[in-house]
This record gives sequence, C-alpha cells and structure tokens, in this order.
Amino acid sequence: MREKLFSVETPCYVIDEQRLIENLSILSETAKQAGCKILLAQKAFSMFSLYPLIGKYLDGTTASGLFEARLGHEEMGKETHIFSAAYLEKDFDAILKICDHISFNSFAQWEKYKARAMAAGASCGIRINPEHSTQEHAIYDPCAPGSRLGVTAEAFRPDLLAGIEGLHFHTLCEQNSDALIETLDAAEEKFGIYFSQMKWLNLGGGHHITRKDYDRSALIKRILKLKEKYQVEVYLEPGEAIAYYAGYLVASVLDVVHNGIDIALLDASAACHMPDVLEMPYRPPLTESAMPGEKPYNYRLAGATCLAGDIIGDYSFECPLEIGDQLVFEDMAIYTMVKNNTFNGICLPSIAVLHSDGTIETVKKFGYKDFRSRLS
Ligand SMILES: *Cc1c(COP(=O)(O)O)cnc(C)c1O
Repeated sequence: MREKLFSVETPCYVIDEQRLIENLSILSETAKQAGCKILLAQKAFSMFSLYPLIGKYLDGTTASGLFEARLGHEEMGKETHIFSAAYLEKDFDAILKICDHISFNSFAQWEKYKARAMAAGASCGIRINPEHSTQEHAIYDPCAPGSRLGVTAEAFRPDLLAGIEGLHFHTLCEQNSDALIETLDAAEEKFGIYFSQMKWLNLGGGHHITRKDYDRSALIKRILKLKEKYQVEVYLEPGEAIAYYAGYLVASVLDVVHNGIDIALLDASAACHMPDVLEMPYRPPLTESAMPGEKPYNYRLAGATCLAGDIIGDYSFECPLEIGDQLVFEDMAIYTMVKNNTFNGICLPSIAVLHSDGTIETVKKFGYKDFRSRLS
C-alpha cells in the first residue's frame, strides 16, 4: 500500500487513514475505560475533511481562538471547547454562539467576560499553572518561570470562583502518563481544595497516548481515582496523539550539489512545510534511510528556499539519490499543515488521504492564489 505514496504529485502531505483510525480507536477505548472525554486539539491537526471520521471516535474539539472553534463547530459539531490566553473583544460574541466550554487564563479575563458567558450558558473554567515542569523544551513548557499561561497558586482568587465550573491545565509535550500523574499530583496539592466544587477538570494535551510505549493503564487508573475522589468529569485534549505517525510528506529531489558534502535540494522545505524541524528542532524520520554514515551514500537534505538554514537534516541511503527520486518523510500529519507558510513564494504541499482501501484521494491543491491572498 505504501508504494501508492509514490504516485502523488509532490510535495504532498498524505494522511494514512488506517493509521489515523488505529489512533482514534486507542483513544476512544482509553476514554471509555477511564470514563473521561477526549477532544481533538485542533492546534496540532486541523484537517477538517477528516473531522466527520474523527468525530465518530472523540467527543469534540478544542480551540485556541475563534477561528479554530468555528472550524470545529462547523466541521465536527459535538462539544466545542476553547481556551485563549486573552480573548479579543470583537470575537467574544461569536465565541459564545459556538462554544459550550470556555476557559480563561486569568481572573481579570473571567471578570471581564463572566456576565456574558454565564448568560449564554457556557460552562466556564480557569486555567491553572501547577508550576511543575516535567520537560526540557523551554519553548513548550507553560510551567517555566515567568510563564504567562495559567493562574499560579499565588495569583489564585477563591473569592472570584462563583460561576466557575472547571479547572484546566496544560503543561505536557509529547509525554507519557508518568508526567501527567506527577503534574496532577502537583496540581492537586496546590488547587485540590477547589476540585470538588468543579463540574470538570481538563488535563490538557501533550499526552502521547497512542505511542507504543505509552502506559495507558496508569493513565486510566489515575483518572478513575481523580473522578472518584472529586466527582468531576475529566477531559483530555491531545493534539499530537490523534494523528501521531498518521501522515507523510512526500517530496522529490530537484537537484544534487556538492560543497564538501553532497546536498540534495527537495521540493519540500523545512522552513515552509515542516517548520517544527527548525523550531523544535528535530530530525524527521525518513523511510528507507539511516543516520549519517550508517549507509554508503550520505546527503544533507535541504529545501529550495533562499534561507541558508532551510535544512531538513543529514541522512544516509543504500543508493545514490537521483534527480526525480521521491522521499517519504514520516510523522508529518501533526504541526505541519497548521503551521506551514509560503515564504519565498514556495507553493504549499497538496493534501491527500491514503484511504483504508488503498486508494489515494487528493483533497486539496494549492497555487498562486493562496500565496497572493495573504498579501496585498
Ligand atoms: C497545544 C495544546 C494542546 C495539544 O497539545 P499536543 O501536544 O498537541 O497534544 C492541548 N491543549 C492546549 C491548551 C494546548 O495549548
């Protein structure tokens, strides 16, 4: 079935429907066993043509602002949650029309919007900061000193809790259940006295639940304990876990140049099409390749933009790369389409689905008008 990937016009993101369904099945089974609800965090993956499928397994969507909320509401329906670090006045009425759960990042935001949110019947929450870091990526650590995300125990205002039905925290990134359990313990220590006043607790995203080594039974046990102790509804809102290893970016070799090393220029760009490669940074997995030096033919793979640092990484291959060869980058569903850009006037990759029956369907192609429409 994988050979089908080579039939697409490159560059192209291809979502593997079978793998997506495998992830979704794990998530819905986990939710069932834990008695919790799981939402799609659209920030990681917003391929709305698949929302009807995703909605069969999950309880709804969560959004970082009005546009994502609207996409989730219109394309999936079901529950629509939102958290924004600061809401825009001009968006708030539209948010109230479509969101059933609204989390606020400060008591000032809550006070500002409280009357309208309660009148609209939304279930409102406060994001808390458990101040318990469990990871090294400072850029993805909302518990780092000076963080703007979530109310610290020191800034917490029990006197303003009337009307608040939920507490929300999100502190993890690509982590296992041990990190959640530690964080929940820290949150409980600091804010536990308020838990039983709540209808729901949202434990955020960053749970790599669908990864092979993820300890799902520990997660389930901890959530069951939390629910029993405080009689609350529990939400998880993973993004990555939903489409983890469920997509590829298929690219072609445009040229090979030599400058001390062999460099293959591709029609896929790190800067434009896989920005997390530079931002995180990381080396994306590439089918039929190995670490530099492990196989006889070594190349630096790079984009065709003018950015000197548009480098995907160094890889080695069994055979020399030829112009026109196709390469399949893996784990390219998440944080790619939602973050890509047309820097240098580079065209966006098409978007396709490799269906479970082996057929490939191109669902979207981009062109000059997409580049032009964002400029004036
Ligand atoms: C980013 C984010 C998520 C999803 O995180 P993943 O790492 O993709 O699972 C969930 N909730 C909030 C508030 C987020 O900011």
